[in-house]
Amino acid sequence: MMTRACDLLVVGGGPAGAAAAIAARRAAPELSTVVLDRQKFPRDKACGDGLGPGVVARLADLDATGIVRGRRPVERLKIVAPSGAEVVGDLPAIGRSARGYVVPRSEFDRDLLAHARDAGAEVLTESRLEGLASPEDGPVRVTSSGSNGSESIEARAVIAADGARSDVRRLLGVAYNDPAHTGVAIRAYVERPGGFEHMAFYFKRELLPAYGWIFPIDEQGANVGVMIDAARFQRQERSLPELLRGFLQSSGHADLEPKRSRAYMLPFASEIPPLAHGRVALAGDAGSMINPFSGEGIAYGMAAGMEAATRAARALRSGTGKQPFQGYDAWFRQRFGEHFRASARAKRLAQQAWIADFGVRAARRRPEFVREGIELLVGEGTVLSWRSLARLLVHGRTQGIPRGPRIAA
Ligand SMILES: Cc1cc2nc3c(=O)[nH]c(=O)nc-3n(C[C@H](O)[C@H](O)[C@H](O)COP(=O)(O)OP(=O)(O)OC[C@H]3O[C@@H](n4cnc5c(N)ncnc54)[C@H](O)[C@@H]3O)c2cc1C
Repeated sequence: MMTRACDLLVVGGGPAGAAAAIAARRAAPELSTVVLDRQKFPRDKACGDGLGPGVVARLADLDATGIVRGRRPVERLKIVAPSGAEVVGDLPAIGRSARGYVVPRSEFDRDLLAHARDAGAEVLTESRLEGLASPEDGPVRVTSSGSNGSESIEARAVIAADGARSDVRRLLGVAYNDPAHTGVAIRAYVERPGGFEHMAFYFKRELLPAYGWIFPIDEQGANVGVMIDAARFQRQERSLPELLRGFLQSSGHADLEPKRSRAYMLPFASEIPPLAHGRVALAGDAGSMINPFSGEGIAYGMAAGMEAATRAARALRSGTGKQPFQGYDAWFRQRFGEHFRASARAKRLAQQAWIADFGVRAARRRPEFVREGIELLVGEGTVLSWRSLARLLVHGRTQGIPRGPRIAA
């Protein structure tokens, strides 16, 4: 068995892992960084391919905006209520960016990982982590196997960015999310001459509190899909491809032929596990960092990977023996906790079709509600408080919007 040693090992070359590797190289170029991924890139990943303004901001932080240069930007987002009522608003600004993109993950992830390689990280693909021993003293020992045979890697710190079914998380003994805090979703690609105008979220009765989406990639292609809570999915009869077809039919897109369907799960940030485990940290889907309302996970995963890597690089270069991920868990919860709590509240409200209808109809008259809703979906908003809901109900009623049944406390 071949043996190697490195300062930082990143398991998983998706957006969280690639961003972590770039950040580590920038923070401490004298330290060695290795990225391990079981797949060969480019590789497909089930995703809506939606890169919100948070992703664009992270790319700017990493000097990697070239990845989206020349792509068609998305600046407006449409929300469609179960009743069919719709509202359109601007994407929120994060950093200097108030735009998003829709880039197939096979391309986006390939390009971001190439940036990590260019930044000096060693990238080992087709190599799967199989074992992990993390003693209190001394380096973490990882075993992997793949096209180049078996390997043993000793690392002073490890960032696990190995996705929703993280092997590192399992080997650490950290349970996966409960079905009540997990989503399942299917995506497919469609084509239509003339393309599609906005990124669109369709809140459909049969999917609530989740939705179907149409995200335009270019002048003719789009990524379409449906997301549903795992617990609700288990309780109903239809398969994900059937739900997708049903969504396309009921949203007036029966003519679209979904191709290259692919499904996977989404661990929601309504149940974030402990993120730091001595010399090992969880980032991205491995740490359940997906917005429970929107299903967006790339921006948070990149932010977490970058922060974990920067902390580890500083601790390792200091030579003081300081724990590499000290403060990382608290940082993540402080940075995004309130946003995820507000998103989870919005999701609970959207379980009721009448509230989703009501919210969209009221928002058509009050632009600040559109902004709040969009900020929860693809920004970093925190303001869907019970107080703002009460405001919404009062304003809706005074403007003649019929009230539905009382909301249970
Ligand atoms: C259908 C669907 C639609 C979605 N739509 C969106 C969207 O539009 N926008 C958005 O922001 N988010 C979306 N998400 C969520 C988003 O896909 C994830 O949050 C994001 O991919 C997380 O990135 P990551 O780097 O943590 O993990 P991943 O992208 O899953 O990367 C993990 C990597 O780890 C590797 N790996 C796994 N196990 C091992 C192992 N044992 N050894 C070595 N390598 C390993 C894998 O090969 C993979 O390359 C969607 C999710 C789904 C399922």
